[in-house]
Amino acid sequence: MKMVITGGAGFIGSNLAHALTRRPEVSEVRVVDDLSTGFKENLRGLDVHFTEGSVLDGALLDRVFRGADTIVHLAALPSVARSVAHPIASHHANATGTLCVLEAARRAGGVHVIASSSSSVYGANPHLPKHEGLRSAPLSPYAVSKLASEAYLGAFHHCYGLPVLPFRFFNVYGPGQPAGHAYAAVVPAWISAMTAGHPVLVHGDGHQTRDFTYVETVCRVLTRAALRGSVSAEPVNLAYGTRTSLLELITELESVLGKPLNPQYLPPRPGDVRHSHADNARLRSLFPEVEPVPLREGLERTAEWFRTRGQ
Ligand code: NAD
Repeated sequence: MKMVITGGAGFIGSNLAHALTRRPEVSEVRVVDDLSTGFKENLRGLDVHFTEGSVLDGALLDRVFRGADTIVHLAALPSVARSVAHPIASHHANATGTLCVLEAARRAGGVHVIASSSSSVYGANPHLPKHEGLRSAPLSPYAVSKLASEAYLGAFHHCYGLPVLPFRFFNVYGPGQPAGHAYAAVVPAWISAMTAGHPVLVHGDGHQTRDFTYVETVCRVLTRAALRGSVSAEPVNLAYGTRTSLLELITELESVLGKPLNPQYLPPRPGDVRHSHADNARLRSLFPEVEPVPLREGLERTAEWFRTRGQ
């Protein structure tokens, strides 16, 4: 099978590239990435065809998608905070970018498209756990762009019969997730700060909760979905229903790293949701055999990566 990963030089995309190149069913992995937040270095040593460019470039996508069996579309400008600072850039890369990918998949003969939406689409809806039937209530431009993306997948399925699968990722963490930038996610930012002896910055009171998902778990699901050609016009939560407060995460990290931390509390950030906890009945029914990597093990493996290779 020939696979394309858009955003394949990024955190999740490069982990997926490693996973797919190990599969005997996969004969070719192509990556398209404009390196705006990803790094070519993440693909070092892998047998992948790398094309540097944007998913907004239709002619480039036509070349990369020709003859492909599945496209895993991960290219986006992530981060709620980044989208609050740069809403139009977020919309272009995430919403328009997805539309361009879908149009190119259609031109290429109706290629299967798996794409990454986000738990942020639940936004202000207070219901827990979050199941896919809930009303979406985006709180940030990022969440709006992701809601548009998954809605475009559904529309392309209904209008053109395109085989699609929109996943809602929750808080994905693991090796390869960068720490050293303004929009870094909480796990790499805190491991990096604790390792360097810097204070850990907590936005809000720390009682907000997240459903942390180890990147290998996400890649296991994406790999199965790609190899099997799984299709759903409706979005599917990709998380395992573990609800961890940021204060609990701090305690876990103290135990993993064997040192106390020094939390510094800042005001909550606009656009951030208060609680996030997935109902994953739909995921379980589609991929009953996938077992998630537990939080403790995932944090240990992430910390080890930072010790040996991280910033
Ligand atoms: P990332 O920033 O590491 O990866 C995104 C990749 O897309 C980068 O390599 C970047 O260079 C590339 N990219 C950006 N704009 C592009 C464009 N116009 N054309 C081509 N490439 C472009 O982020 P990630 O954490 O690996 O996220 C992957 C996907 O998962 C994104 O769609 C993100 O919105 C989604 N997601 C991630 C999380 C998470 O917790 N990490 C949660 C929910 C959703």
